[in-house]
Amino acid sequence: MTYLKKSPWIIHYDASSCNGCDIEVLAALTPLYDVERFGIVNTGNPKHADIFLVTGSVNEQNRQVLINTYEQIPDPKVVVAIGICATSGGIFRECYNVMGGIDKVIPVDVYVTGCAARPESIIDGVVQGLGILESKRLAMAEKRAGSRAKAGDAV
Ligand code: SF4
Repeated sequence: MTYLKKSPWIIHYDASSCNGCDIEVLAALTPLYDVERFGIVNTGNPKHADIFLVTGSVNEQNRQVLINTYEQIPDPKVVVAIGICATSGGIFRECYNVMGGIDKVIPVDVYVTGCAARPESIIDGVVQGLGILESKRLAMAEKRAGSRAKAGDAV
């Protein structure tokens, strides 16, 4: 599992963004900003992903899609909220159908602010996510080792 730190795969979901932040996420993936230099690959399948990038705010239409996608990503995983809409609802937070930022429905590890979030900030958020991913991986490994030791004591 040590490969995670070096080649995490990301999945991007547009909750209800104006597409401003989505364009910046795509820019981060292009050769100009080249997020792949960190070994990061974009995938369309949540079951292959380690880092969940979400743009836009949560509403009744996308709430369940967001939860379903999150639950399909295997542990350990990291969620990065991209842009002020994903962080807090942003300019849409007073809308009748907007619940707020994505942390209303799934846990968020890294918040990348901005409207739109800049590609440099998105890359910074993803790189912060790598450290969190590694901490979660180590915590899971320790928990597993603890469980095995307890099972060994019981024998
Ligand atoms: S933060 Fe700004 S650019 Fe990004 S989705 Fe919201 S309104 Fe659009």
